[in-house]
Amino acid sequence: MKILFYAAKTYDRKSFDGIKGQFPEVEIDYIDHELEPRTAALAKGYDGICAFVSADVGAKTLEVLHDCGVKVVLMRCAGFNNVDVEKAKELGIIVKRVPGYSPESVAELAMGLALAVNRRLYKAYNKVRENDYTLKGLRGVNFYGKTAGIVGTGKIGAAMCRICRGFGMRVIAYDVYQNPALKDFVEYVTMDELLAQSDLISLHCPLMDSTFHMINLETIKKMKDGVILVNTSRGALVNTQELIEGIRLKKFLGVGLDVYEEETGNVYEDRSDEIMMHSVTARLLAFPNVMITSHQGFYTKEALEAIAETTLQNMMDAKEGKKTANDVC
Ligand code: NAD
Repeated sequence: MKILFYAAKTYDRKSFDGIKGQFPEVEIDYIDHELEPRTAALAKGYDGICAFVSADVGAKTLEVLHDCGVKVVLMRCAGFNNVDVEKAKELGIIVKRVPGYSPESVAELAMGLALAVNRRLYKAYNKVRENDYTLKGLRGVNFYGKTAGIVGTGKIGAAMCRICRGFGMRVIAYDVYQNPALKDFVEYVTMDELLAQSDLISLHCPLMDSTFHMINLETIKKMKDGVILVNTSRGALVNTQELIEGIRLKKFLGVGLDVYEEETGNVYEDRSDEIMMHSVTARLLAFPNVMITSHQGFYTKEALEAIAETTLQNMMDAKEGKKTANDVC
């Protein structure tokens, strides 16, 4: 079974090559190109392709893949908002993903961002390196005794709930389904109650029509003054322009983003020598209370190993026609 692996980074090759021995039937060719309609044609002769969060797995790409004889799309990530699922179904292409490779890897980064913006760790690091030992601009708040509001209590949200409880926080949550594993220490509330009561809001729901721009000026205005907002889920959960307005209204103690709307052209690229003409990311980065990381929530040793193993197992399952919880369609 031949897999064409798009947008392969060194760490991808390392983790997949490390596990390949367990799947002797699988052959992988890695290419640097991102998956999009133009590059989909490279998949001729492959049984499956492997793609990541920035790939364009829209209708056009799927049509080209289908014409090339590709039967399986292996998403090496949890989210699949970049896949046109209806088109894949129509073409009979199997799409599988890795729903729960290591929820703690993302949740721990979410708490890391919350702490970093609260205590301005990025500033503190630079100040001390510059021999500036003053405390100006570094005052934060205790998390202990405060309220954490977790939006989406699936695998990652649940891990974040556990972390927040460990910090001695009251944990409230909003989800369309309640997670029974959390009933002992999480109180489910409405979204409006969560916005009004939380000192830390962390987003962990998927990007769908119903969650697109769920954080906008209207919802921001319902938040407490001095709230910390963290998004490690998908950029478009937050309306970036309106977030900027909210920051200007001094709503936030801090904002930590591992994902943001403009990330697609940036993710895992070195653009340090470019002049960004119309970048809202650059605008966000100019605020002293914002920290952005580049979609690195999944980037731990444990998560990478689990992604590689599950992705190759997904290929085997697809070949055997096995339906599993990893099926998108
Ligand atoms: P999951 O499917 O286990 O949980 C998602 C939860 O969101 C579910 O409980 C679901 O009921 C809930 N939900 C659905 N619609 C909702 C709504 N309208 N309002 C509130 N909650 C809603 O998913 P997960 O594994 O916890 O991952 C969550 C998201 O994290 C993924 O969709 C993905 O976008 C993102 N993610 C980011 C990274 C990263 O590197 N930063 C890595 C993995 C996943």
